[in-house]
Amino acid sequence: MTEQEQHKQYELDCRYLRMARIWAENSYCRRRQVGALIVKDKMIISDGYNGTPSGFENVCEDANGLTKPYVLHAEANAITKIARSGNNSDGATLYVTASPCIECAKLIIQAGIKRVVYGEAYRLADGLELLQRAGIETLLLEIPTDGVPSVLSQP
Ligand SMILES: [Zn+2]
Repeated sequence: MTEQEQHKQYELDCRYLRMARIWAENSYCRRRQVGALIVKDKMIISDGYNGTPSGFENVCEDANGLTKPYVLHAEANAITKIARSGNNSDGATLYVTASPCIECAKLIIQAGIKRVVYGEAYRLADGLELLQRAGIETLLLEIPTDGVPSVLSQP
């Protein structure tokens, strides 16, 4: 990639990640709202946010404020949405507002996703480590609510 192409990719990454952040606002979860987009060949082929499965009540927490065990993460919702579509995620990029957990990392690997751009580091790093072991490029982009985003790490 030339420097110009790299800059273009960086700008696109920031925009898609901002869109994922807006998409997270759809989530009914109170504890944490996460949004994800899957982009392939410059097309958004899927989207997701954390929440209960289709047909369930839009409440993520139980009476004690704990997240219900059947809440799907944003990445899992985006990936499984593709399973119901005519598309496929092979070679795609996943944009997600928080770094994937290990359960989602497994799905990301098996879905053929090649790149993961995320907006903030999740408390556990084992998901990212698994992705890196599978040869998936991971990129942390910190986007302030206002101002110019900056690249924090590019392993
Ligand atoms: Zn997850």
